[in-house]
Amino acid sequence: ELQLSDRVQRIKPSPTLAVTSRAAELRAQGKDIIGLGAGEPDFDTPDHIKDAAIQAIKAGKTRYTAVDGTPGLKQAIIAKFKRENGLEYSANQILVSSGGKQSFFNMALAMLNDGDEAIIPAPYWVSYPDMVLVAGGEPVILETTVESRFKVSPEQLEAAITPKTRLFVINSPSNPSGVAYTEEELKALGEVLRRHPQVLIATDDMYEHILWTGKPFVNILNANPDLYDRTIVLNGVSKAYSMTGWRIGYAAGPAKLIGAMKKVQSQSTSNPASVSQEAAQAALEGSQECVAHMVEAFKARHDWLVAALNALPGVTCLAGDGTFYAFPDFSGAIKANGLKNDLELADKLLEAGVALVPGSAFGAEGCLRLSFAVSLDTLKAAVSRIEAALTK
Ligand code: PLP
Repeated sequence: ELQLSDRVQRIKPSPTLAVTSRAAELRAQGKDIIGLGAGEPDFDTPDHIKDAAIQAIKAGKTRYTAVDGTPGLKQAIIAKFKRENGLEYSANQILVSSGGKQSFFNMALAMLNDGDEAIIPAPYWVSYPDMVLVAGGEPVILETTVESRFKVSPEQLEAAITPKTRLFVINSPSNPSGVAYTEEELKALGEVLRRHPQVLIATDDMYEHILWTGKPFVNILNANPDLYDRTIVLNGVSKAYSMTGWRIGYAAGPAKLIGAMKKVQSQSTSNPASVSQEAAQAALEGSQECVAHMVEAFKARHDWLVAALNALPGVTCLAGDGTFYAFPDFSGAIKANGLKNDLELADKLLEAGVALVPGSAFGAEGCLRLSFAVSLDTLKAAVSRIEAALTK
């Protein structure tokens, strides 16, 4: 019998990608399915970014580049961190990868040993625990609730840290909850982490720009500048510039760690696509107006959707601070409809013509994740279907 590795058997396929493909299957059978499962903006990549890629192809920028990214893109990333985040990096502290997903994957492989613990607050981006498992680490999940606005407290973090803890992951604003930590909350978490120097901090800032708190974006490093030597910042162009298919993410952090991640990448994928790097450089260096337009649309949909969800019986939905996800708690509705859990509810709603991801996939039972990266009309139709399915 063909034998598979223990490593691959520890993990599962991405549940969000699974929902998207299940919806596509049903559509192919002629069913009318509204997809609220996908984790990508519904906008096209802005023209000036596409044009940069077209120019790059014509200019023959179609060959291997440096493994860690072209000098031009790395300079654009360094300038971005300085301009937008007040963070200083030199070139050997930056690694460009094929998407934010690969950045995290490289990091996990570069710094976790077998049995090392990685603290991940739930609800989490579905890939963190599995990538930690592939690297041989042990995910330690911290539960949160609607009452805590899906955020972890300093006490929770302190209680979870053991001598084996090597990594703390924070994603703000969060996929899937949409909430962002305040500067004060980040300071309080930093206070705990300061006492445990063996823990590396990974801040995933992928949704940095899709934010409507009215305050400037802050990450845990901005709130605790003295943690610079043990913090890695993960970011990318996928969500901010509607560039999910281009596959460009980047990481900034201690040179030793970035160098180790580069080595992993040099023995797996080598450089990210050359043409995509030219496009990403144009995204970072060009006008940021395109981002503001998208955020405005997301905010309008968010406001409508959160109100509509809260009007459903047995549903509580927090107002998010950003991203393009709502993460309502459906516990009351699940009970009232005689269902066992969020997985059964997601199945029922799929039958009713709406594809969305059960909260369990993100470590939060009883919730659902709805992506509002669709038009307002589509959202309205989706909520009508959900309402009809629930009161039936
Ligand atoms: N981080 C978070 C929180 C995400 O939601 C995603 C995408 O869903 C990523 C990282 C990775 O993005 P990509 O690999 O598409 O650049």
